[in-house]
Amino acid sequence: MPELPEVETIRKQLESQIVNLSIEDVEIYNLRSIRRHDSAKEVIESIKNSYITKIGRRGKYLLLYLQATSSFVVYNTVIIHLGMSGQLLIQETGSEFKKHTHLKMQFNNNKFLCFVDPRTFGEVFLDNCEDGFCIKLQNLGLDPITQNFTQDDFYKMISGKKTKLKNLLMDQSFLCGIGNIYSDEILFESGLRYDRSPNSLSEDEVKSLYISIDKVLKKAIDKGGSSLRDEQYRDLFGEIGQFQNYHKVHARQGKPCCKCGQAIIKTKVNSRSCYFCPNCQN
Ligand SMILES: [Zn+2]
Repeated sequence: MPELPEVETIRKQLESQIVNLSIEDVEIYNLRSIRRHDSAKEVIESIKNSYITKIGRRGKYLLLYLQATSSFVVYNTVIIHLGMSGQLLIQETGSEFKKHTHLKMQFNNNKFLCFVDPRTFGEVFLDNCEDGFCIKLQNLGLDPITQNFTQDDFYKMISGKKTKLKNLLMDQSFLCGIGNIYSDEILFESGLRYDRSPNSLSEDEVKSLYISIDKVLKKAIDKGGSSLRDEQYRDLFGEIGQFQNYHKVHARQGKPCCKCGQAIIKTKVNSRSCYFCPNCQN
């Protein structure tokens, strides 16, 4: 599933491609992709002829902010979640559209933004957002990259939490955007085991975790996110990410730890795979 670094990579690319363009046409081929709305007509009429003013992101959600050109438009943001297998692709007129293209937006430069999603867990919906906040995203916690919180804030956020650290990092109502890959990498970077209780962390350990979240996510964004062996994650131009080449534990079971040489272990936490070094993480 695309996580914060993958979605941020796409956000930056969208910013360079579609800001200031107007949406000339919208076609929807699978109603499951717009399941929060009553009809395709509602979605199409609400966004057609609007201009894209900026591209935001909150956790794993992309936000296309709109400026309406007609009074009919009632929403100011198109929100896109890629789910398990979703891709956003920019395509030219006349190019062959991929199988499982569920929604297409055509812009006034004749390019298309295509939402492709074989497993259909992803979705596109509309709301009125301001700085990443809106009713439909109200259950999300802070975004660790765009919403600043100090080390003291983080200490307060984490204190009293009793769930295992890996689960806490993946809890979208705690921080949004971190999933299975980056929780493993962040925990390795901070030297903490996946099953530690947040309550048990010393002040230094909380500090290490706080710094590692920022460091790992920023490096992953810098490398265009991670594409695993299935290469399901593709950026806006269909290219894979590069951060998988820098993973220190995720999907590296049996391989030597880059710090101590011991074999990386794979285990399960709440039916999700989890990778860690038994020597470097305590
Ligand atoms: Zn190690």
